[in-house]
Amino acid sequence: MEGEAQNFDGLLMPGLINTHAHTPMVLLRGAGEGLPVSTWLTDVMWPREGRLTADDVRLAMLAGGAELLANGITTSHEMYFHSEAVANAAAELGLRAVVTPPLLVADDLASFGGWPEQLEATVEQADRWRDHELISIGFGPHSAYAVPEKPLVRVVELAQKSGMHIQIHVAEGRQEGDALRERTGLSVPAYLDRLGMLDGQVLAAHGVWLSAEDIELFAARQTAVAHCPCSNSKHASGFAPVRALRSAGVAVGLGTDGPASHDRIDLFEEMRMALRLARLAADDAGAMGPRDVLTMATVEGARALGRLDLGRLEAGCRADMIHLDVSPLYPVVEESDLLTHLVYLGSPALVKDVWIEGHQVVENGYVLTIDVAQVRAEATARARSLAGL
Ligand SMILES: [Zn+2]
Repeated sequence: MEGEAQNFDGLLMPGLINTHAHTPMVLLRGAGEGLPVSTWLTDVMWPREGRLTADDVRLAMLAGGAELLANGITTSHEMYFHSEAVANAAAELGLRAVVTPPLLVADDLASFGGWPEQLEATVEQADRWRDHELISIGFGPHSAYAVPEKPLVRVVELAQKSGMHIQIHVAEGRQEGDALRERTGLSVPAYLDRLGMLDGQVLAAHGVWLSAEDIELFAARQTAVAHCPCSNSKHASGFAPVRALRSAGVAVGLGTDGPASHDRIDLFEEMRMALRLARLAADDAGAMGPRDVLTMATVEGARALGRLDLGRLEAGCRADMIHLDVSPLYPVVEESDLLTHLVYLGSPALVKDVWIEGHQVVENGYVLTIDVAQVRAEATARARSLAGL
C-alpha cells in the first residue's frame, strides 16, 4: 500500500510533553512585545485577561491546542483562567492535559471571585474529572509574589487532603523574590517550603534565579522544574541552572510557557534553545547534549508531572505516540546521527501522525478532531475585540 511505503522511513517515538503552558494566551500572542515580565503582566496581559469569557478561553484553547497536537505535543501542563473551558477544549481535541486553575490576587482579575471560592471550585473540578482518561486537575497558585500567604497556606492544606498536585511560578525574574526576602529573610523556595508546600507534589515553573541551597532543597523535596528557555530568553529573565538541577536529581521538563511569552508552541525549538543556553552559560560546547534535551522533552518531563506512565513507548505506558518523517534528517552515517539531527533539524513540519491514549488525533499533519481553519478565524476575531479594536 502507498501509505505503508510513505511510513517506511518514519520514526515512532513518545509524544512530547509540555510541562508549563498557558496555551489560551494564543489570543494575546504578540501583545506587549519587548517589555520585561513585570510590566508585561500588569500593563498588558492582566487587563485583557480580566475581560476574557469562558467562550474566549475555550476557543483559544482549541486554537492553541490544535497547534500542540500538530507539533507533536501529546501532554500539556496548563494553567489558565476559566479552567473548565480549558479542560473541555482539551478533551474535545483529544489532548492529554493536566489543568491547574490559576489563583491570582490582583485588582484587574477581581471578576474571577475571591480566593476561597476559587479554591473550592478547583476541588470540585478535580472531582468532576477524576475518572477522565485524558484530563486531570491540580492547583495553580500563580506565584509567591501574586498570591498572599493565607491563600497559599490553604492551597497546601487542600493539596495535602486531596493528593492533588501544584504548579507555581518560582524565581522567574531576578527581582521577583526581593520583597519576600526583605519581609521574611527567605528565598522563594525556602518560603514555600516553610509553608509546607514542597512536601506535596510540586512543579516549579521557570526556576531561573535559584541558589545552590534552593537547588538542594528542590532535590530533597523532589520538587520538579519546568525549564522554559525560549520564554526566559524573550523576556531576558536569565539562564536557569538546568545542569545543576539535573545533577542534583531534580526532574526538569521543558515548557513552552504561554504563546504570548514565547510565540511558538514548539518543543523542538525549546530543545534546541535549552541546549544552546546551557552551553553558552557554561562556556562549554559539551555542557549538554541532544540526548539530554530529548529526555527532558519526553520521559523526564513525564517524571516532572509525576506521570511515570508517560514519555516512553513501553508496555504499561499510555499509548501517546508521534510518527515523524525523518527523510529531511540526513545523512545518518552513525547511529547517533539520527538523535542529533532530530534535535538540531527537528521541527513540527516532521510530525505526520499523532496518537493519544491510542486514538489518532493528527493524520498526515492535519488535526482530525476539530476544524482548525474555522477556529483560527473565530480566535482572530476575539483577539481583535480583546485588544479594543
Ligand atoms: Zn507561566
